[in-house]
Amino acid sequence: MRDDNCIFCKIAAGEIPSATLYEDDDFRVILDIEPASKGHALIIPKEHYANLYELDDELAAKAMVLAKKMITKLTDILECDGYNVLQNNGPAAGQTVFHFHMHLVPRYKNDNVKIGWKLGKLTDNVKEEILNKICEK
Ligand code: AMP
Ligand code: ZN
Repeated sequence: MRDDNCIFCKIAAGEIPSATLYEDDDFRVILDIEPASKGHALIIPKEHYANLYELDDELAAKAMVLAKKMITKLTDILECDGYNVLQNNGPAAGQTVFHFHMHLVPRYKNDNVKIGWKLGKLTDNVKEEILNKICEK
């Protein structure tokens, strides 16, 4: 599966050069061109899936295992102090490239990288509403 208009399909296939950290039959791992921190990388499947909703189950499992391997290796190399592993689904969630990818963002003490949200408060109403709806599914 491939989308000819998709930049990550082209990068994953090696048609557009990238700073590749790792490659296998299923994935290419590259350095992000606009990194949040030194070493920010992306895990990109070679097949085109727009987002996590669409991602093949087996590939989803492999992506998480690869994320674990990559951050373990990169923590050593970069001497970072922690990692954010995240991915965005849909424009409302900040997705800008509509080919599934996982961000591996190394974190350094006092790095000033902003990933987060203002803490809310779980109300009883909202809790009941969601718990009831999920039980009906
Ligand atoms: P997202 O906003 O989650 O869709 O993330 C897209 C990411 O892809 C951003 O962090 C971009 O900096 C990165 N990106 C876009 N084009 C390229 C490219 N040609 N090479 C490497 N990273 C890219
Ligand atoms: Zn694609």
